Amino acid sequence: LQTSAKPPLTIRLCQPRGFCAGVDRAIQIVVLALKKYGAPVYVRHEIVHNRYVVEGLQNLGAVFIEELSEIPDEHHDAPVVFSAHGVPKSVPADAVARNLFYLDATCPLVSKVHKQAMRHQRKGRHVLLIGHAGHPEVIGTMGQLDDGAVTLIETEADVRNFTPADPEALGFVTQTTLSVEDTAGILKALQEKFPALQAPAAESICYATTNRQDAVKETAPGADLYLVVGAPNSSNSRRLVEVAERAGARMSLLVQRASEIPWNDIGGIATLGLSAGASAPEIIVDEIINAFRERFEVNVELAITATETEDFPVMRVLRDVELTPA
Ligand code: SF4
Repeated sequence: LQTSAKPPLTIRLCQPRGFCAGVDRAIQIVVLALKKYGAPVYVRHEIVHNRYVVEGLQNLGAVFIEELSEIPDEHHDAPVVFSAHGVPKSVPADAVARNLFYLDATCPLVSKVHKQAMRHQRKGRHVLLIGHAGHPEVIGTMGQLDDGAVTLIETEADVRNFTPADPEALGFVTQTTLSVEDTAGILKALQEKFPALQAPAAESICYATTNRQDAVKETAPGADLYLVVGAPNSSNSRRLVEVAERAGARMSLLVQRASEIPWNDIGGIATLGLSAGASAPEIIVDEIINAFRERFEVNVELAITATETEDFPVMRVLRDVELTPA
């Protein structure tokens, strides 16, 4: 007798997952600015690396630009928001020179890294930034100091090739969204080569990155498939895919929407690991669980590995808007 029963599937759902306090704040800043000042509100760079979020804000009247020069003269009194990733110092300086009103949505934990880099410099140290070339956060952190004051270290090979002017005067910071394990390897190589290397006063990899990676590490062993909801340009999401693979998931993939799940390739799975990067909204996690429910008899197991209470307030000028009902 043929049976139409769906095969069973256990979904190990990570908690924490998805939006972090910095992303939440950045989105709120754009929404509140639209409420207070009306459209258009310009946003320099994708406010967070997620197409769904960006399109949602566009529908409300946000206009995304890459450079301030793209703001037309007739809108030069419209607010411009800087993204959560942070910006080089030249960007607010340029905004002031152009007489623009800007709202800086840089995550406070990225600003903290900027301060640590500046502190190293005040103490006469050359700064090493461990991170990925071209990522906006890296561009922003390097742009806190003068040209040549920061050297980017991406790999252990970069450590071998780096010859500082003064090996006794070095300090490091890192991108906030790196792999905890990879960074430990690079750091070990740096410390072996430069024993006088000074650490920042506070850890640069942020709580959200660490917590999401820990949760994936916990849920990946033995998973037939691991899905991470996130965008290809989201650094923290891509690290989660690597962490899942390294921790023992048979296959691990980054998906932006349920429509990207490669049903034909995943075959007969019994256990699915599921998490979301810090810029991925919960609605897409639901969409993915529902897509699996259509094909499997799903049992969701919540894997709680940490409790997050971080909440970053928006800037003062927008706080009164919060109190106004929509
Ligand atoms: Fe801030 Fe970390 Fe979120 Fe980046 S991932 S916005 S540093 S809390």
